[in-house]
Amino acid sequence: VGSKGIESARPRGARALIILLTPGAGSAQRAAVARALRELGVEAEEVRLGARHALVVERPEAAPPAESLARIDGVERVIPLAPRAPLAAGTLRTGGGVAIAGAVFGGGHVGVIAGPCTIEDAASLRDIAARVAAAGAVCLRGGVFKVRTSPHSYQGGGLAALRELAGVAREVGLPFLTELTDPRQVEDVAGLVDGIQIGARHMQNFPLLVEAGRTGKPILLKRHMAADVDEWLLAAEYVLATGNQRVILCERGLKSGERHVRYLLDVGVVPYLKRRVGLPVIVDPSHAAGDWRLVPPLARAAVAAGADGLIVEVHPRPEATRSDALQALPPDAFLRLMDDVRALAAMDGRSVQPARAGERSAVGI
Ligand code: PEP
Ligand code: MN
Repeated sequence: VGSKGIESARPRGARALIILLTPGAGSAQRAAVARALRELGVEAEEVRLGARHALVVERPEAAPPAESLARIDGVERVIPLAPRAPLAAGTLRTGGGVAIAGAVFGGGHVGVIAGPCTIEDAASLRDIAARVAAAGAVCLRGGVFKVRTSPHSYQGGGLAALRELAGVAREVGLPFLTELTDPRQVEDVAGLVDGIQIGARHMQNFPLLVEAGRTGKPILLKRHMAADVDEWLLAAEYVLATGNQRVILCERGLKSGERHVRYLLDVGVVPYLKRRVGLPVIVDPSHAAGDWRLVPPLARAAVAAGADGLIVEVHPRPEATRSDALQALPPDAFLRLMDDVRALAAMDGRSVQPARAGERSAVGI
């Protein structure tokens, strides 16, 4: 559904602004506020709210923003009735699952994305892809544009690596998701991937959100480690506003003063978001934990809380990897985790989508 459909479904007055006047505002003051509004081209109707007075703006589209109107003398507060992220809110009616080339997240399906943090070479990617597919992952992850805190750390193989590695993903038969960081690269690389990951640090890279959205590819939108839910949903709104409805939200942990985990996983946001939006919500236990031994329990908590999927970092030789080695789950632990995920999903009648028949034979199982 584009923004048009949502607009026309909205009942009259749903976008209204309530301009609450200061207590005891007399008729002269009320008239002065109404005059100030008229000078701004804003039509308003006066209403009584018990002992208080307010002005209702039914069509605030052309009006200055609420915080500007709040500067008019005699105005106590401006209360917008429209949700701040109307397109995201609208998905509550229209939403179902979102698929990344056949890997389904939501609508009763729990999808698991797995793979290395960073892709090192074709051989190791082929090995990891075969192992995670055999365990039941439905989508392959792996970064080539790594977002590293220090410019001195390994930055990833870049576009050249992506060209080579997208081919490996196709060979193995799993849909392929990778993080893009630069709006200038989106057009060039969109054709090589099945889904685009927007990393936590780029959640508010608005030009990137727009360019990624315009590709029409599924967008995995991670929550920034310091973002509140509204900021996250407004970031999703940038993608939805391009007409691309294929947004998957991903909680990956918040910055806190704690040191026992890398980030504090907000498990509660999963059931909370289910009440606000119809977009699938998945969880990344790897970046939250920062330690592979904590990954399976966090992953289980996420699925138990209703997450529509997981994105997990898996590596058969963590000691050899150049990024996020400590949190990389060995393949045998991933295999066991997938059993738990299937059991937990079954508890509330959901299924963990198996790899499709063609994909299974492609990985030799
Ligand atoms: C990643 O998935 O490799 C990554 C960098 O994650 P995040 O953006 O959540 O830090
Ligand atoms: Mn990582």
